[in-house]
Amino acid sequence: MTDIKSAAAAPSCGSTKPLSREAEHVLRNHGTERPGSSALNKEKRAGAYFCAGCGTEVFSSETKYDSGSGWPSFYAPVDDNVAATIDTSHGMRRIEVHCAKCQGHLGHVFEDGPEPTGLRYCINGVALDFKPQD
Ligand SMILES: [Zn+2]
Repeated sequence: MTDIKSAAAAPSCGSTKPLSREAEHVLRNHGTERPGSSALNKEKRAGAYFCAGCGTEVFSSETKYDSGSGWPSFYAPVDDNVAATIDTSHGMRRIEVHCAKCQGHLGHVFEDGPEPTGLRYCINGVALDFKPQD
């Protein structure tokens, strides 16, 4: 498994702690976590969600809502900290979203979200670090 070793040796672009294997898979290889597997699905406290790859604040609890999809969902990102590209993998045309700073893959955005944006940012919980407000 030399790929894991070389990934661990690569520059971590400012991350303060090593990524879990699953976070690495999602952020760097566009992986998707199992639906319902993230504890953040049920997270309702006020606070901020940071990119697990580099610590950039990407979402706020203020825009989080329960979409019932099995992934943490938001209707808007934090300013320009999240960027989007068209993803045509798996025979679908989806909009992929990633951290604007480290390019780490976060999830996808769909146009069936609530007001005021009408957008649903469907995000892998493993790609996020939640810090509750104190
Ligand atoms: Zn990042």
